[in-house]
Amino acid sequence: MLGKLAGWDDTIAAIATPQGVGAIGVIRISGAQAISVVDGMFPSKSLEAQASHTLHVGLLKEDALVLDEVVVALFKAPRSFTGENVVEISCHGSHYIQSQVMESLSRRGVRMAKPGEFTQRAFLNGKMDLTQAEAVADIIASNTEASKKTALQNIRGGFSSVLKELREELIKFSALIELELDFSQEDVEFADRTALFDLLNRVSVQVSKLLQSFRLGNVIKNGVQVAIIGKPNAGKSTLLNALLNEERAIVSDIAGTTRDTIEEVLNINGVLFRLIDTAGIREHTSDIIESIGVERSLAKMREADVVIYLFDITTTTPEELSIEQAKLAAANIQYVMVGNKADQVKERNENAAEHVLYISAKENSGVDELKHRLFNLTVSDEWNSDNTIVTNARHIDALQKVEKSLYDIRNGLQEGLPGDLVAIDIRSCLHYLGEITGEVSNEDQLDFIFSKFCIGK
Ligand code: GDP
Repeated sequence: MLGKLAGWDDTIAAIATPQGVGAIGVIRISGAQAISVVDGMFPSKSLEAQASHTLHVGLLKEDALVLDEVVVALFKAPRSFTGENVVEISCHGSHYIQSQVMESLSRRGVRMAKPGEFTQRAFLNGKMDLTQAEAVADIIASNTEASKKTALQNIRGGFSSVLKELREELIKFSALIELELDFSQEDVEFADRTALFDLLNRVSVQVSKLLQSFRLGNVIKNGVQVAIIGKPNAGKSTLLNALLNEERAIVSDIAGTTRDTIEEVLNINGVLFRLIDTAGIREHTSDIIESIGVERSLAKMREADVVIYLFDITTTTPEELSIEQAKLAAANIQYVMVGNKADQVKERNENAAEHVLYISAKENSGVDELKHRLFNLTVSDEWNSDNTIVTNARHIDALQKVEKSLYDIRNGLQEGLPGDLVAIDIRSCLHYLGEITGEVSNEDQLDFIFSKFCIGK
């Protein structure tokens, strides 16, 4: 565990509520001086004399000037989010008032907090491990039930507790193997090799489970990319409207994703489905396959997690359909073949193509079934809310390194490598495991992680 970094003993403050005018604005202050500083602005009683976890109503003043009537919440170290003294001042939502309060605080030596600094302090004070701290950012960014649930699970400890246990077991082995090195002349084995292999297997199973969960984690965090493709007049824009009819999701930009195409988003069972390149569909330059060339349409499809291939059943021959289906299959893309304008056809040759879903986009029939299929294809196989799901690219990177070092350790043991070399591999495995939970970390890495937070968190 990293010790406290330099410059962490000052007191920081930030407006914790979003910009703009709300009914209430909350200013959060953390640090050794938090309570005494606010005490100096709160004449009606001595805040320092009050118990932790209490609320106090009164006037907040800068000398004779009344800043606002406020509610002050007190959290005394170490029983606070950051582990330091924390004061939360709820004032009226006026931006003017909040800036005045911030100015007064700064006149008293309180510094404006950097993004994520409150959470970073919570981490440095051992209030949470790194995965939990990162989940705080995820939960703030969450915009569906599924992403909230995953983030909440990680805030509560999620998979880091499992990894910590395994890491501790591995530390014991590493100690035993290093002990053997001290007795190298005597050819003794303190570390039971069978038990070590068993432990390595358990770590491997856990790590590969977590690695596998990332695909789903990514889906939950960033959504599923869906491309609707098909010839002109197949009914793509009609379908788009039908899909978006009720479920259009309200989303803001998801942190870390930049997009140059216009997209519409729908929410199916708590997971976001992003309909990509909808601008193209809307503008009726829609035939991706024919108008922009095979290369680009393939690229578009590869970008998608799933493709809806829409065709007009009144004009498409079974031969054409098989050709399109073969192309999709060859490109190794998940797809749903959707036959549109079912309202136009009384009897259908069900054998025309396999796995075709028939809908009428115009009459909105079959559209729910299509949503159901999209969800099943991309999410539901692995969907189990009890499973631990990794959503963070940094964790995946570390987990991949753990996997590699596990392989090295196992290989080393099998080939009878000298203990000191095996010990090096074990140490590197311990290092990467520790990186995930933050037992091993460095200042740059922490700055990077916390800089992605918003100010006030
Ligand atoms: P796009 O070029 O693929 O975007 O196709 P559009 O959505 O513009 O639809 C082309 C034409 O087909 C329009 O006249 C639609 O009203 C019509 N259309 C779309 N879906 C259906 C449907 O389910 N049934 C019928 N009968 N017509 C449809």
